[in-house]
Amino acid sequence: MSPADPDLQASIRTIPDYPKPGIMFRDITTLLGDARSFRRAIDDLVQPWAGMKVDKVAGIEARGFILGGAVAHQISAGFVPIRKKGKLPHKRVSVAYALEYGEDVIEMHADALVSGERVILVDDLIATGGTAEGAVKLLRKLGAEVLAACFVIDLPDLGGAEKLRKLDVPVRTLVSFEGH
Ligand code: AMP
Repeated sequence: MSPADPDLQASIRTIPDYPKPGIMFRDITTLLGDARSFRRAIDDLVQPWAGMKVDKVAGIEARGFILGGAVAHQISAGFVPIRKKGKLPHKRVSVAYALEYGEDVIEMHADALVSGERVILVDDLIATGGTAEGAVKLLRKLGAEVLAACFVIDLPDLGGAEKLRKLDVPVRTLVSFEGH
């Protein structure tokens, strides 16, 4: 389900102690800037669902917009942005999700999809899975069928992919890094 891709892994830059001490920040701007790596990531992210009917791709702010927009184009689906609280102008649905300290809120437009639509969720990285879990709840609130959640990077030690699988969401990741 989650193939290791050494070339893709090498295209991701790691910045130690960013944005705070102890965090290894996995920077995908180097992947995005390399045409071959970018195309490969987009092709591989949704490969198991190629040829299936997918109505919408939902991308999580902000790096999920770049990847999700390209994926949506690739599979001829619509794109739905999932944004931090207060950014969307029309009628919204919201969900609170846990952060390391405290909580945050993500939102979608209430008319971004109709009940029964088949949706793939996309973001750059899954760590604790809190953000993606919130996004799945938001999509299901509107009646979406969440076909899968796709991430370029998995941090398996933090358990996020397992958390999503327990919600019956198939998870696809392309590369993984130890630790956090
Ligand atoms: P989580 O909710 O813990 O799964 O965190 C996932 C979100 O935080 C994603 O949108 C990532 O872009 C970002 N994130 C978490 N940890 C990292 C990291 N080590 N490097 C880069 N982005 C991260």
